[in-house]
Amino acid sequence: MILELNGIYAGLRFSSAHIVFGHDSCGVIHGHSYYVDVKLSGSPSGDFGFVCDFKIVKQIVKELCNELDHKLLVPRDHDNMEYSIDEDSIFLEYVEKSGKVKKYMFPLEDINLLPLKSTTAEELSIYFTEFIKNRLQKLKMDSSILEIETTVNEGIGQGARYKMLLR
Ligand SMILES: [Zn+2]
Repeated sequence: MILELNGIYAGLRFSSAHIVFGHDSCGVIHGHSYYVDVKLSGSPSGDFGFVCDFKIVKQIVKELCNELDHKLLVPRDHDNMEYSIDEDSIFLEYVEKSGKVKKYMFPLEDINLLPLKSTTAEELSIYFTEFIKNRLQKLKMDSSILEIETTVNEGIGQGARYKMLLR
């Protein structure tokens, strides 16, 4: 059995800015209206014959969407980007292959520093999947779930999907 949440219709959306450091066009600060689709496969069980309660899954995904919404997403673990924090500000420095240095400064409250190497849809789909898995495990609601599949769409028509087997 597969449970499916459609990000557009279920309201699992966020609008954020990011920089794909080093990329020709996406290396400039730009934004997307993201939406997140989730599939959970497993066996119906419990009093209601659920794979998982839709309401719970939506709450979990919305929690992360809200954390990312209207922020600049910054990859903390990028190989060629250094950052430093001084009181309420963050400074980023990216060295391009040509040796050119790009420097940025932002109010700390405007960014979300993520434990990722990049803020591509690919990396974000892994991040969402792990977040959903951890939350479901914490709530002890993962026992009948075999697989979590998350698609992070950068607007309509393009997205990255990640599938994680739980057992
Ligand atoms: Zn982008």
